[in-house]
Amino acid sequence: MQKGAILVLSGPSGAGKSTIINAASEEIGEYYFSISTTTRAPRVGEKNGIDYFFVSKESFEEDIKAGNFLEYAEVHGNYYGTSLKPVREALEEGKLVIFDIDVQGHRLVRAKMNDITTSAFITPPTLQALEERLRARCTDDESVIVNRIENAKHEIKALGEYDFTIINDTVEKAAKEFVIVAKAARLKQSREDEAKFIKTWLG
Ligand code: ADP
Ligand code: 5GP
Repeated sequence: MQKGAILVLSGPSGAGKSTIINAASEEIGEYYFSISTTTRAPRVGEKNGIDYFFVSKESFEEDIKAGNFLEYAEVHGNYYGTSLKPVREALEEGKLVIFDIDVQGHRLVRAKMNDITTSAFITPPTLQALEERLRARCTDDESVIVNRIENAKHEIKALGEYDFTIINDTVEKAAKEFVIVAKAARLKQSREDEAKFIKTWLG
């Protein structure tokens, strides 16, 4: 039986997801951030095992075959996936598990774990602001930035599939909203837990 809850965060690359999680982390209590596995190259400053597990395409495809992923998707020409085992363990420990995954990943998690999932779509106020932030971040080549912006134009259309939208205007405001969403996400109980509660409640 799973006692924890899931909070899925999606939004275009450069939306500010990492910034917001970092800004809010002290206030949202204990949580487990799901470190994804990817075949993309590390950016300057990114560390293996902290930002992502950086692996080869071959190794990723072996993990797919072995059924090791809760979900995976191809984004911007690279594989990204969530390993099942650490997520299952964190849920069994009753933790809030936070995912930073794309819209395809969100759909897959919803299909498998809808009853314990809350989701938020994070976006800068405009496409132009996204573009400016991606350039200011100075972590990607021009071609990579163009690719991410093109992808963002599609991703934004999935906004309605999420429980909440957080507009990252200022980090302070977005982080405050994120804390509220994270606290609400913790309150979600699985159907199994609800059934148990009702049985006990009835006496
Ligand atoms: P993501 O994790 O969604 O890819 P990041 O957290 O890396 O996005 O943010 C992208 C860039 O935008 C970073 O350089 C970050 O410092 C900057 N940024 C984040 N939020 C804001 C904001 N509210 N205003 C201005 N710049 C921001
Ligand atoms: P980035 O390369 O900017 O770190 O991430 C690119 C995109 O991949 C983002 O939209 C991010 O949310 C998504 N992503 C990161 N990890 C995963 C994952 O494990 N699964 C899925 N489906 N998407 C992911």
